Amino acid sequence: MTTILIIEDELELLQILQKYLEQANYQVVIASKGDLGLSMWEEKQPDLVILDLNLPGMDGLDIAREIRRKSDTPIIMVTARVEETDRLIGLELGADDYITKPFSPREVVARVRAVMRRVKIPKEVSNVIKSGALEIDLDGYEVSIDDEVIDLTPTEFKIIETLASQPGRVFNRLQLLEASQGNAYEGYERTIDAHIKNLRAKIESDPKNPYYIETVFGIGYRFVKEKRD
Ligand code: CA
Repeated sequence: MTTILIIEDELELLQILQKYLEQANYQVVIASKGDLGLSMWEEKQPDLVILDLNLPGMDGLDIAREIRRKSDTPIIMVTARVEETDRLIGLELGADDYITKPFSPREVVARVRAVMRRVKIPKEVSNVIKSGALEIDLDGYEVSIDDEVIDLTPTEFKIIETLASQPGRVFNRLQLLEASQGNAYEGYERTIDAHIKNLRAKIESDPKNPYYIETVFGIGYRFVKEKRD
């Protein structure tokens, strides 16, 4: 069962959302203060968080950052004004969706469904990515070449997972930084190059002439897209 955590200090709204989501077959846990919400998140490990921006105890912004630092739990941010939403999008917090008050509970349920669909599909379709001799086990966090397990750092694993999940798609360094570290500070993009270099040394038979991870000059990197016949 999918568990949803709602962090919202308007009790009436909280109860209505809870009721609608439960009717839609979600298990709902709630918190009416920011700091309580964050500990609830750690304790319950929900599948999705509906997060109000203005909260007593701890700001929604700080909660979102804290969650993103540790996981990719989908977050739907709730704001009181459209301008706040614009500002949040500008901050690139990594929230999966934004809802502005006032909203209908039905709309929230629809957004929750949409986000859950988006995050679930890739995981269910394939948990192992194969390309040539390379195999990436997304559940087991393991990469192997010709069935021999390669020892990767968590950052290297995140990078290759990100690239290989969408073969052929070009990722810039900032995107890879965000995917592997949970944040993207401009100015640190070049650290990605070092990780890619180490990755290539581990997985490529000829790191100077890489097969799996291609450099896209001036932009970033992409995972090889195999031709299918
Ligand atoms: Ca509030």
